[in-house]
Amino acid sequence: MHTVTNRSLQSHLEGVEGLLLHDEPMDRHTSWRVGGKAEMFYVPTDKASLVQLMCQLPGNVPVFWFGLGSNLLVRDAGIPGMVVCTFKGMDEIERVDKESVYAQAGVASAKHAKFCARRGLEGAEFLAGIPGSFGGAVAMNAGAFGGDTWSMIERIECLDREGNITWFEKSEISYQYRYVDLPQIQSLDRLQFNMCTNYPVIFRQILERTAVQIQRILMMPKMELLRSTLIPCHL
Ligand SMILES: Cc1cc2nc3c(=O)[nH]c(=O)nc-3n(C[C@H](O)[C@H](O)[C@H](O)COP(=O)(O)OP(=O)(O)OC[C@H]3O[C@@H](n4cnc5c(N)ncnc54)[C@H](O)[C@@H]3O)c2cc1C
Repeated sequence: MHTVTNRSLQSHLEGVEGLLLHDEPMDRHTSWRVGGKAEMFYVPTDKASLVQLMCQLPGNVPVFWFGLGSNLLVRDAGIPGMVVCTFKGMDEIERVDKESVYAQAGVASAKHAKFCARRGLEGAEFLAGIPGSFGGAVAMNAGAFGGDTWSMIERIECLDREGNITWFEKSEISYQYRYVDLPQIQSLDRLQFNMCTNYPVIFRQILERTAVQIQRILMMPKMELLRSTLIPCHL
């Protein structure tokens, strides 16, 4: 740990890799630049460090999963317990076979769109215009321009509060427009998608991705329309 101020907790977390900050102002991390302090704010170095943290964190410490804060309003009183930020530490993305991609929760949605477009994998173009992490997109079933995140999910790997890892098939999760009934107190960890492989469309996709981004920029002044989608955090 780089920074630990809570001595009693420090002994529990001995040896856990990552960045742990105390009393971290959440206005530094949310898109709306609002929010009080997180009691603790943790950025894992990788999946192993996150599992280690969950195994060692005392059970009475609440955990809040955080991506890039683009869909959160944090109240002035802040967030008690541990905020776990997947962005930066958990940002691996790999193609596993012809039509499947694994991505960790902290991959930026735009990076995911770019990764797929460059490999001629169709279906993720809409993500180019959505701010946030891919874990956040899966948790919210984020979507735009007729596409949504769960239409391409095949299965998700989750980490629970005790450090156990479980794969859930798409059929086990119920989801709808901008809502997903996720197993409680779980972190989305590794996410597998089925995409269409279609090499001839690669250049069209890149053009479409650019078009999506231009469309998004043009829409930005209308941000008040998006307020209705924000999740109040710990109200
Ligand atoms: C300018 C702007 C434009 C936007 N446009 C769109 C749009 O077109 N379409 C759309 O759908 N949304 C849009 N959004 C909303 C937002 O970008 C998406 O919902 C995004 O997917 C949230 O990702 P995030 O990483 O920022 O999540 P956060 O804001 O960090 O978290 C959102 C929720 O997801 C949960 N969560 C995050 N990561 C994990 C994880 N690893 N495991 C479990 N739960 C997790 C959090 O606990 C929280 O409940 C927009 C937001 C802004 C500010």
